[in-house]
Amino acid sequence: MSTSLRTSASPKVGIVSLGCPKALVDSERILTQLRSEGYKTSATYEAADVVIVNTCGFIDSAVQESLDAIGEAMAENGKVIVTGCLGAKKNLILEKYPDVLSISGPQNYEAVMKAVHLAVPPKHDPRFDLMPAQGVKLTPKHYAYVKISEGCNHKCSFCIIPSMRGKLDSRRIDDVLREAERLVKGGVKELLVISQDTSAYGLDRKYEPAMWRDKEYRTSMLDLCKGLGELGVWSRLHYVYPYPHVDEIIPLMAERKILPYLDIPFQHASREVLKAMKRPASSENTLKRLEAWRAICPDITIRSTFIVGFPGETEAQFEELLGWLKEAKIDRAGCFAYSPVDGATANKIGGDVPEDVKQDRLKRFMQTQARISKAKLKKKIGSVIEVMVDEIDDEGIVTGRSWADAPEIDGKVYLSADRALKPGQIVKAEVIQANAHDLNAEVI
Ligand code: SF4
Repeated sequence: MSTSLRTSASPKVGIVSLGCPKALVDSERILTQLRSEGYKTSATYEAADVVIVNTCGFIDSAVQESLDAIGEAMAENGKVIVTGCLGAKKNLILEKYPDVLSISGPQNYEAVMKAVHLAVPPKHDPRFDLMPAQGVKLTPKHYAYVKISEGCNHKCSFCIIPSMRGKLDSRRIDDVLREAERLVKGGVKELLVISQDTSAYGLDRKYEPAMWRDKEYRTSMLDLCKGLGELGVWSRLHYVYPYPHVDEIIPLMAERKILPYLDIPFQHASREVLKAMKRPASSENTLKRLEAWRAICPDITIRSTFIVGFPGETEAQFEELLGWLKEAKIDRAGCFAYSPVDGATANKIGGDVPEDVKQDRLKRFMQTQARISKAKLKKKIGSVIEVMVDEIDDEGIVTGRSWADAPEIDGKVYLSADRALKPGQIVKAEVIQANAHDLNAEVI
């Protein structure tokens, strides 16, 4: 069985991968999805909560090998999900192993993930998970999340992730780039880099170098961006903190090696509140940093999240946040009214903000940001943008995203076109309408 066994309360999935390189790409894709949803992989049948067997059915000996692998997994674990080429011969499998949980054919990641969810539901907590707040959702085939590290070295007072997931544990650069490469070979057009702190990537490995495509890359955010830039697809960074070394990747954005998009969870603008939150990079002058980045890459899109009503937050500190927002003019912002998390040190700070005040601040924040966003999107009317087609519904309505929009969390572009489009396709379109979040555009 592949990959390592780690200690964690997260559900564990074992995966047995048989067959050709195409089947391996499928296994990689399933592993990526599992990892991004918080599942761990298990190296033993015993420790796994469920086992996926990715089969081959090309020649008789491969069929036998696959059936034997299913048999072994059934005997050793008992909870088995079968996928891959042999999945097309369902009856053959059911004759021998009527108790397998699910059988699906090759590239049917959705069926596999559905079966995993049924067998061992993911531990999803929208406050901590890196996936969108809407919860666990299967990514369509044309984009994929790439988790570059686990855990975190910070001690934000509202967060218990370090105690749950441990210290920063980065994957080595060649491992990440090989996964990204395989995903692209498998048809993925957009890679979404996730971690708890992407700007800290590689620190725990002392930026260890490794070879990929006959070239040396360091396990660092900069080299990660350089490597992803070689793949010729959209690469988007999430969870970056505004440290000085982030400046190094902005030229790569200006050159379009990676998308000029940064997801930076600023959380607040008041130094005192940030200090109470124990936020990384809390002493950085973020307005200055944004200005410098925009000087190098004028169309960089910044998205962020904020917390209002943190214990002890005064009206003046909240006003400071609104003032920052008006000056920073970031493109997208999500905001949450603070709610305590069991075990977080912030619970001991005191000075709780009453619920109605929190809700009022949340409303004022969102109204301010909506005005900023609306004005920014209005400026796009008449311009030609690149749009990735995401979905075509039963009524033929085509929804996509510009590179300034991450899936699930940012805006959408509603497309009209005089030709058939398909998900994953990137088209040029002229923006004809805008509101505070979304655009309407015509494919040219
Ligand atoms: S940076 Fe802070 S909020 Fe993010 S995971 Fe680490 S401790 Fe939690």
